This record gives sequence, structure tokens and C-alpha cells, in this order.
Amino acid sequence: MLHLDDVVLALDIGGSKLMVGLATLQGTILCSEKFLWDALSPAAILAMIQEKASRMLINYPQHQPSAIGVTIPGLADSAKGLWVESSFSGIENLAIAEELTNCFGLPAYIGNDAQACALAENYYGSGKGTDHFLYVTVSNGVGGALFLNGKLYCGARGNAGEIGHCVVVENGRTCKCGSKGCLEMYAAGPGVVKNYRELGGKSQMSGQPASAQLIAQLARTGDEAARKTFELEGYYLGKAIAAACNLLNPERVIIGGGISLAFDVFEQSLKSTFFQSIYQKANKNVIIEPTPLRYSGGLLGAVALVRRGDGAEKGDEHV
Ligand SMILES: [Zn+2]
Repeated sequence: MLHLDDVVLALDIGGSKLMVGLATLQGTILCSEKFLWDALSPAAILAMIQEKASRMLINYPQHQPSAIGVTIPGLADSAKGLWVESSFSGIENLAIAEELTNCFGLPAYIGNDAQACALAENYYGSGKGTDHFLYVTVSNGVGGALFLNGKLYCGARGNAGEIGHCVVVENGRTCKCGSKGCLEMYAAGPGVVKNYRELGGKSQMSGQPASAQLIAQLARTGDEAARKTFELEGYYLGKAIAAACNLLNPERVIIGGGISLAFDVFEQSLKSTFFQSIYQKANKNVIIEPTPLRYSGGLLGAVALVRRGDGAEKGDEHV
């Protein structure tokens, strides 16, 4: 059984980037680096992980890992170590845990990224000591995870928590899932930029293409279209989160992903929409807050998968 001082090789796989890091099971990140993908085929992804992680292990010989944790942007089968699929790549049932074990000679644990981040909140963030919480991540897409009765709840096919596909606009924008008006189409980065343009905002900002982060900066300086864009952001998130809370009655909602860094500009609108849309008596004490883990959430998610996996093997899910 691993010790909390043991080091994990943490891999956070995103749609556009790879984060590689070394961290203790206690949740201290020792080093980390971000890389952009050269190509998104199974072979290219595995080759890049092997190259970048090997280099990091050579550069930090004092931090030799005892296990590998990997977060997957899509459907993961943690028990079989399979990356089942991702919407952005042609990946199907890639045995990534086995590949990494063969390459580095270490046990490997994988899991869906949002679910791994919820586990990280449970071990290291604001989900500590909370048996019922909802984790919502908003960046290029919208994901989520449920931590219920002190455990991650994954659902029948591992897809529980996909709040991004809750409909917030009747007959709205077409989503890649086949439905219309999904939260993801309005509240994720590309949706935020679209909302801003529809409200009269510019598509270029100081020579750079508009992004949710730049629009948030403008909102703080009082730009009217930017301010309204984040009012809408709070409204859409508030509607979907209220529906989830009416169903699940959690103690806490933790917002992660890039948008959590702009929480100050949509907090008021989110909370007023939320409290207008829920069954008040049952949910009046729900705490809604941004993750304290900030940029480290993904890597700590990978570490949390090892912590859970190692404990689960010994019949104790909570190490
Ligand atoms: Zn959808």
C-alpha cells in the first residue's frame, strides 16, 4: 500500500494539451509542465506522454514515482484501464493504463477528468469533509461529477454528472450531442464568445481573438456587453445547477475549469438565478463557490485517482 509521501506521475490529458507533473499522494505538486499536442491519434498521444514524462523523470531523479494517475477527457473505464472514447479524437477503447504500465513499469490508474477533479476536491479541496457535493467544470466544454453519500457516483455507464447537456434554452443552439440548447453551447468558452458578439461585443481584443478570459477582464472594467455576457453566464449556470440541486440536494456546488477564475464577475447573477429557481426550504444552505485548487485541479485529479485506486484495492475507498 502506498504512503501519503509517495510520489505519483500525474498526467492530465485535455482536448488541446497535456499536463505532466510529479506530486505526492498528500497533494503537493513537486513539478509540472504543460505541452500542446502534436497530433491526436492514439499513437501520437502515447508517444508524447512517453517522451515528456520520461524527460521529467530524468530531470527530477529525487522524485521517483510509485504509480501513475491519468485523467481522460471523455469516457473512461477505470476498472479495465480503458480510455473508451472522446468526442475530439478517434480514440476507442485504448488500453492506456496497460500501455503506461508497460512503458514505465508502474501501476496506472485512469478516470474521467471531471470525476477525477471531484475526487481531488474530496481529498484536497473544498469537498473535504463533505459527503454530498456537485462539481461543475466550465472551460472549452462543460462537465460535471457527483459526489454522493461520501462516494463518487458514476452512473450506469460512467457518464453521471454531464450537466453540460442539460437544456437551458428551448430550441437553442445545436449541440454535438444531437440535442438543442444545451448548457455547454451557452456557458463554455466558445459559447461565451458567441454571447458576447450577439450582445454587440467585438471579435478581436487588442489584436487577439475574443476569449472568455479577456471578456471577463473587460467586464471588470465596466464594458457593458462584457458585463451582460457574464450576467447571462450566471443565469445559464444558475438554471442548470438549480435543476441538479433540486434533484440531488447537495451541501455544496464547486465550480472548476477556466471559468472559475472569473467567478467574481458572474457570482451574483448565478446565485440570484439559483435561489429563484430552487425549492428554497430544502436548498437554502447550498454553498456555491469556485474551486480553491485553481490550475492544479487536473493534476491533483490524476493523483486522486491513484489515492482512490490504491485504497480501493485494499478494500478501503477512503485512504
Ligand atoms: Zn448537448
